[in-house]
Amino acid sequence: MTTSSNCEGPDCEKALENLYLFIDHEIDTASSAEIQSHIDECTSCLTEYDLERVVKSLVSRSCSEVAPDPLREKVLMRIRTVQVQITEQRA
Ligand SMILES: [Zn+2]
Repeated sequence: MTTSSNCEGPDCEKALENLYLFIDHEIDTASSAEIQSHIDECTSCLTEYDLERVVKSLVSRSCSEVAPDPLREKVLMRIRTVQVQITEQRA
């Protein structure tokens, strides 16, 4: 065990590696179930998963509304700030 606050270990690595595929439902059912059960138990991965989902939904929404790029950047920037705050709280 390390004292790092980051998500570590083979399970976390695997879950985070497949996070995008999982969110996009581009992963086979078996792996998807594995990741889901890991996220259910692992707060760090759950946080990561939630953030990615929020980013994704915001981006796709602003895409469909043909939002100007500056707005999208602002949204992403805001999310990044939140992510930093969460990381700091975790540390
Ligand atoms: Zn994890």
